[in-house]
Amino acid sequence: MQRYSVFAVAREAMRHHRGWQRAWRSPEPRKRYDVVIVGAGGHGLATAYYLGRNHGIRNVAILEKGWLGGGNTGRNTTIIRSNYLQDASAAIYEKSRSLYETMSQDLNYNVMFSPRGVMMLAQTEHEKRGYLRTAHANGRQGVATEFIGPDRVKQLCPIIETRGPRYPVLGALWQPRAGTARHDAVAWGYARACSDMGMDIIQQCEVTGITSRQGHVTGVETSRGPIACGKLGLVAAGHSGVLSQMAGFRLPIESVALQALVSEPVKPCMDVVVMANTVHGYLSQSDKGEMVIGGGADGYNNYTQRGSFHHVEETVRALIETFPMLSRLNMLRQWGGIVDMTGDRSPILSRSPLAGCFVNCGWGTGGFKAIPGSGWAMAELMARGASTLADPFSLSRFAEGRFIDESVAAGVAH
Ligand SMILES: Cc1cc2nc3c(=O)[nH]c(=O)nc-3n(C[C@H](O)[C@H](O)[C@H](O)COP(=O)(O)OP(=O)(O)OC[C@H]3O[C@@H](n4cnc5c(N)ncnc54)[C@H](O)[C@@H]3O)c2cc1C
Repeated sequence: MQRYSVFAVAREAMRHHRGWQRAWRSPEPRKRYDVVIVGAGGHGLATAYYLGRNHGIRNVAILEKGWLGGGNTGRNTTIIRSNYLQDASAAIYEKSRSLYETMSQDLNYNVMFSPRGVMMLAQTEHEKRGYLRTAHANGRQGVATEFIGPDRVKQLCPIIETRGPRYPVLGALWQPRAGTARHDAVAWGYARACSDMGMDIIQQCEVTGITSRQGHVTGVETSRGPIACGKLGLVAAGHSGVLSQMAGFRLPIESVALQALVSEPVKPCMDVVVMANTVHGYLSQSDKGEMVIGGGADGYNNYTQRGSFHHVEETVRALIETFPMLSRLNMLRQWGGIVDMTGDRSPILSRSPLAGCFVNCGWGTGGFKAIPGSGWAMAELMARGASTLADPFSLSRFAEGRFIDESVAAGVAH
């Protein structure tokens, strides 16, 4: 792999940028791999990367029906935080956040991780009590967060109206080392590193069937022909239910469209991320100056990957209460992604009823932040059959009633 550095940029500048290599190969699929991963989103690519880096398993193919990073990985609002309530969640999300800190160096690819701090506003007494509880739990889990009062909120983010008429700001759960990263770069960085390890990333290759013999997975049928494998990882977010059906089992997830939008670019006006969960909207400013606004999920299950007017209206109306200056901005574009929701709003990292077939899904509205930690844990699970980080999130928790409830705890899970 050609190393990216300031010297490489200078050298290429001298020869009119003719020496850059392609970031990853686009090979024809081989007949068989030790491991096939379905879905070249962040979680699929990170799983492959850590299989190679941590476990030496490199005969791996990552199959993608569209283009890599074209699913939710390239459609999210890039919030990274680890201030979850439950111990199992805090462990995997904090592992993930810590891997983000060094990701650019690890991958030799600038993912623009920006630990600018995330605050989750408390706008009701109930929410305030909840965040005080989370701050206390985080202290015991080793996750650095604190509950801050309204004056500090205003100091950190002057454009907030803290004395709003309906929902005044009573404080916030503040995580100073949380932040954002460039979502495409995360997918591209992992893809480049996987390709460098000799793994095959095969785009425009839809998995249409899963084959098995005597209860053990043997391979996949694809739009580019059959591919045999020893182990299979299903990492397809909102389409996981479709794939598990091919493998002969059902997953306890629902698929819905989640939306976001951005405004026209403006001069720097906020350098933190703010989540206002009571009114339901979250906001950060991109490096280009656009206000990146996260909206709501559709109230019914569907696979329609698009934006819609009623969500824009609802989200912007809600945010204007807390950020009155937004009322004077033009909105540029909106979009949607198909997210995979479990009942307890926690992910599934698990073996499946089909031997050799593993699932990684259920990250719902908040899986971008989890990409490195999830890949790390899933790789360990696939390579060794068990993983301390992944084991609490197994499918068996639904049969055993052992939920990891982040829905009530967090109110919102982005
Ligand atoms: C609007 C929006 C805002 C969000 N905001 C945040 C946020 O601020 N912070 C946060 O942490 N998370 C956020 N999320 C959630 C986050 O984006 C997802 O949880 C995460 O990106 C999921 O990654 P993934 O790799 O599992 O899925 P994806 O990136 O969706 O990748 C799955 C891939 O599988 C492929 N695939 C599906 N079926 C097949 C098949 N049959 N054959 C081959 N390939 C197949 C798809 O094409 C896709 O590329 C947001 C999501 C949305 C939609």
